[in-house]
Amino acid sequence: MKDCLFCKIVRGEIPANKVHEDERAIAFEDIGPQAPTHTLVIPKEHLSDQRGIDESRAELMGHLIRVANQVADKKGLKSFRTVINTGAQAGQTVFHLHVHLLGGRPMNWPPG
Ligand code: 5GP
Ligand code: ZN
Repeated sequence: MKDCLFCKIVRGEIPANKVHEDERAIAFEDIGPQAPTHTLVIPKEHLSDQRGIDESRAELMGHLIRVANQVADKKGLKSFRTVINTGAQAGQTVFHLHVHLLGGRPMNWPPG
């Protein structure tokens, strides 16, 4: 999508510190890290949020989780949290589906 920030990162129009890339997904470091590891895993295809995961894209979601696992392994994380915010009230600010991978410090529950 033309004006989507993360689509621009996918196209290389905005720089990002990429830690993974394949045909369907990229992972890159969050610009405002909330933990020692804070990586975002996104599909290359523009989907506004998790609601874009319909039956035909169920495998894509599994792929994003697998990429998050690989990044966690690469960073030596045994314990980590994955977060998907859906909608502004849940804290979503960028409307291109992304999985937050957070780790490297103790995490609180419930999240704020
Ligand atoms: P959300 O709040 O939508 O769940 O998460 C959006 C995330 O994108 C935030 O954690 C924010 O720090 C990150 N972010 C926003 N703009 C940029 C950017 O230009 N580059 C990178 N790498 N991360 C960004
Ligand atoms: Zn997009």
